Amino acid sequence: MASLTSLTLKGALDGLASGAFSAVELTQAHVEAVEAARPLNAFVLETPEKALEMARASDSRRARGEAGRLDGAPLGIKDLFCTEGVRSTACSKILGDFVPTYESTVSANLFRDGAVMLGKLNMDEFAMGSSNETSAFGAVVNPWRAAGSNQALTPGGSSGGSAAAVAADLCLGATATDTGGSIRQPAAFTGTVGIKPTYGRCSRWGVAAFASSLDQAGPIAKTVEDAAILLTSMAGHDPKDSTSLPVETPDFAAFVGKSVKGLRVGVPKEYRVDGMPPEIEQLWAKGVEWLRDAGCEIVEVSLPHTKYALPAYYIVAPAEASSNLARYDGMRYGLRADGANLTEVYENTRAAGFGDEVKRRILIGTYVLSAGYYDAYYLKAQKVRRRIADDFDRAWESCDALLTPTAPSAAFGLGERQADPIAMYLNDVFTVTTNLAGLPSMSVPAGLDAGGLPLGLQLIGKALDEGTLFSLAGAVERAAGFRAKAQRWW
Ligand code: GLN
Repeated sequence: MASLTSLTLKGALDGLASGAFSAVELTQAHVEAVEAARPLNAFVLETPEKALEMARASDSRRARGEAGRLDGAPLGIKDLFCTEGVRSTACSKILGDFVPTYESTVSANLFRDGAVMLGKLNMDEFAMGSSNETSAFGAVVNPWRAAGSNQALTPGGSSGGSAAAVAADLCLGATATDTGGSIRQPAAFTGTVGIKPTYGRCSRWGVAAFASSLDQAGPIAKTVEDAAILLTSMAGHDPKDSTSLPVETPDFAAFVGKSVKGLRVGVPKEYRVDGMPPEIEQLWAKGVEWLRDAGCEIVEVSLPHTKYALPAYYIVAPAEASSNLARYDGMRYGLRADGANLTEVYENTRAAGFGDEVKRRILIGTYVLSAGYYDAYYLKAQKVRRRIADDFDRAWESCDALLTPTAPSAAFGLGERQADPIAMYLNDVFTVTTNLAGLPSMSVPAGLDAGGLPLGLQLIGKALDEGTLFSLAGAVERAAGFRAKAQRWW
């Protein structure tokens, strides 16, 4: 049944609808693929029994003519999402064996539409990282390897488990989150599609908070159409999240395949960094040609504050994280270390429970928020954030969307950048801008580098205009004809 796992989500849904196979057969094939892929370390918890139970329920719903949009589709859920009755750790020791008594809105929406959960996916601890190496469960290994090399590569982060699982055909799609690039960069590193929707499109309720004003959930999928199908289910207004937007969710799949003729696509000249491989620059130029051939008008635009985005992000995100993570004190959830008094219990629990990167963020965040430094760092970063949003607003006067590279490199080796946090933070140089501005942005696999590793192009859209992104991404996907798959070594 191996071939069932090579289907796209759309292909699988069509097969289920026509009765070519059952949800139980489809799920069983994926459960076996997950088991066989343990060397990838993509899942931190496998839930095969729950998956098969959900699949059986799906088959009977379908038999009664009550199948939902995703009925019977086996998905992976990033461990940042709370899942009712199923261990949810944010891949941090501090949450221990925390089992939520509630379901995140996004996963609840997927299950409402009939999706099947295969298990919980590995990620950087509290979604802080770009390589999955900060996970308390160890790094995920990218299913891709450079030609002629056995070096283990990062799948990117923080949604590395989601991206690796989709790329290796372990699930038909996965949930992910993006605070500064954590959906798009792993998608680019693994040849998958990832979209970070407009801030407020998906509910943050039940998703462990990293930086609340930047965090946004979205899907990682095999194709643009699959991503559209998944986002349509995940999105929607949720009164339980005060930042959730009270807007209708369009059928995003209807935008895939639509003509992009006449759309104006901006190319921001600032999206270049020193040391960026020429192949990325060339792929970007190819992307521009593809969209021109599809009838788009290409315009040069300038986003002059781009160079301040990364420093502003690495002030705002840690500031919010230091506040959000104050709740992990050994009293309410997960781990509790002994101590002679209450303060010592807090200190010992937090010292034992948080990893180095999380501690670094808490220290930075506490520093930039402290009296005397607040104005110089936090307030200044907030002002830069405004400027970055203004840059985009100005760009929208001359274009409908932007095309950029997703990341400044292809997947790099595990361990290669761990010693240097700044080198790691540079991964996010093209992605953090849209989190700061709240805009939708999407990575589409567009080609391979000389070593045979996938590279992605990023599309950035106006607030709530994911539809245009799906149309443009569909055009890029068709023109790129990206069909390469990771060669199975696991
Ligand atoms: N790599 C970025 C960080 O470490 C973004 C992470 C994310 O989007 N969750 O903060």
